[in-house]
Amino acid sequence: MKIEITVNDIKQFFYCKRVVFFNHVMPVDKKPTYKMEQGRLLEEDLRGLEKRRKLSKYNLENGKRIFSLWMSSEKMGLSGKLDMLIISPKGYFPVEFKYSTNRPQKNHVYQLGGYALLIEEKYGQKVNQGFVYLIPKKEVHVFSITEDLKKEVFITMEAIKTMITAERMPEAAANRSRCQDCEFRNFCGDVF
Ligand code: SF4
Repeated sequence: MKIEITVNDIKQFFYCKRVVFFNHVMPVDKKPTYKMEQGRLLEEDLRGLEKRRKLSKYNLENGKRIFSLWMSSEKMGLSGKLDMLIISPKGYFPVEFKYSTNRPQKNHVYQLGGYALLIEEKYGQKVNQGFVYLIPKKEVHVFSITEDLKKEVFITMEAIKTMITAERMPEAAANRSRCQDCEFRNFCGDVF
């Protein structure tokens, strides 16, 4: 059986493997948290603002922006909706918007790596850099997307597919503070 995963799965796998397990193996009636709803609304506002802004905060002089770009690769068994793609004379850059004041974590870097693979296949262009935009702080964080990172993304995709095939509930998130804002918290009886 061919297993299709999303870039969001890659991000969530680093946050908590169980989130991916619930989404693929044991779908439940999850409830978006207040924070998620707020984030979604603010991201919509931000898209309106972004259209009118210059690209200098990304250290680019000019370029075209594509919002909510859906990409899918049958070859990789990977798909995902990127918040924004910048196509500029300096290259192709994935941008993710986050409703958070915390510095982006490893899962966000892998998320950018997943989008980079999809962009490379769709446009036939190398992607070497991406951005995470923290909405509340209006702060841009820049990340290198190296060939090693892209290999790591492939390894992570294989680990996700193995977990889905095994259909075994993984351990809860080691960092239990993550459970507070999780839409699956009602289904993790061993945590709460
Ligand atoms: S409640 Fe905690 S352990 Fe359960 S899925 Fe969410 S983050 Fe993972």
